[in-house]
Amino acid sequence: MTWPPRLLRGLDWLEEQLKLRYTTAGCLFIAAVALPFVLVLFVMDAYALLDPAAGRFYQPALLRYVVVQEAVSLLLYLGIFAWCLPRFRSSQPRPGLALALITYLLVASANLGILYGHKDTPMTLVFLASFVLARSWFPLRLLLPGLVISALMVTAAEVAISRGALRYAPLLAEPVMTGQPLAWWWDIWMRVLFDMVVVFFAAAMFFIFGHMERRNRELEELTRFDTLTGLLNRGSFMSLLEEEFSKQLRTRRVACVMMCDVDDFKRINDSFGHPVGDAVLSRLGSILGDAVRQPVDVPARFGGEEFVILLPETGLEAARHVAERIRARLAEAEFESEGRRFRITLSIGLAEASDGDGEKALRAADACLYRAKGEGRDRVVSTLAADAG
Ligand code: GH3
Ligand code: MG
Ligand code: MG
Repeated sequence: MTWPPRLLRGLDWLEEQLKLRYTTAGCLFIAAVALPFVLVLFVMDAYALLDPAAGRFYQPALLRYVVVQEAVSLLLYLGIFAWCLPRFRSSQPRPGLALALITYLLVASANLGILYGHKDTPMTLVFLASFVLARSWFPLRLLLPGLVISALMVTAAEVAISRGALRYAPLLAEPVMTGQPLAWWWDIWMRVLFDMVVVFFAAAMFFIFGHMERRNRELEELTRFDTLTGLLNRGSFMSLLEEEFSKQLRTRRVACVMMCDVDDFKRINDSFGHPVGDAVLSRLGSILGDAVRQPVDVPARFGGEEFVILLPETGLEAARHVAERIRARLAEAEFESEGRRFRITLSIGLAEASDGDGEKALRAADACLYRAKGEGRDRVVSTLAADAG
């Protein structure tokens, strides 16, 4: 496989994980993103420790401490990464691990922010990016301890700085921004960190927002469609009906509403069981969908074993043909359960209207359906909605 498809598959996989929100996969993800940052910071700070030309920008005593903290972080994230990697598919919740990792991540980045000076280095961005990434995977309650501790640390540092008890950017010989052009070291240091944050953060946001959009669309589909038959559900059908019939006030074109109800469906459930009843409804949904001109005609599940079809710009005669076609297709369809074969029939009520009142047309179709049942079922009864009143 070449790179682009492999990358896309990797992103699909990550999105699947994000949907499942397994803690182990989340810890793996966070550790994998944190690792390169800590590695780069560690390498740069360790270099400054060894090279006096870069080291002169730091307070030597604190620099050693920071390099040790970064080395510890590096080992920690590596350890979490190595531990989570073989278990990333595990659905066992590990809230303790996630809590410890996120709290450490937030507190460590807040600490670096204080040490390097949070106003003029990318450390605030690092903190924000850590927070957003962690939030994309984990619930807020897992982030709260880290957030509270970090906020307290930053506030305490601010107070100490304002009282002269602590120097701003205590790790550095002098803050990165001094009003002068940037010293060569800070120039490189800033670019590396800013570029990394921007690239990683932008990529993560791109991914997370894309994921949210797809999730929203999925949810929207779920609220619009009936899960058993895949047809529109009652709510979305009613909005479409209103929309279509309101156009009639302008166009005066006729439209028909067809209401179908399975005959003696209770008997099917009673004889073969509810799951077989469900399978019958699902197949009936496909038969109805195939029998009409989609997407112009709109079939929907109205509820239970009742279906409706909106036939825009269709007169009663043409609609009767559609109804007969549905009955013919259904007469051909044979259902089977545990070796027993059976057929089903539909009673259909049909109403034509051109006065812009969709609900009245629906009531008229329902009244026709009622008549079809009374006249012996397995038939079509139709009316002009205007006649039905
Ligand atoms: P009629 O010819 O008068 O319409 O008789 P019927 O038995 O079809 O009508 P009735 O309204 O008495 O019963 C409808 C049955 O449809 C009862 C209900 O359990 C069943 N039903 C409704 N929704 C579903 C569903 O989603 N799945 C299954 N399996 N059955 C359903
Ligand atoms: Mg019914
Ligand atoms: Mg019925």
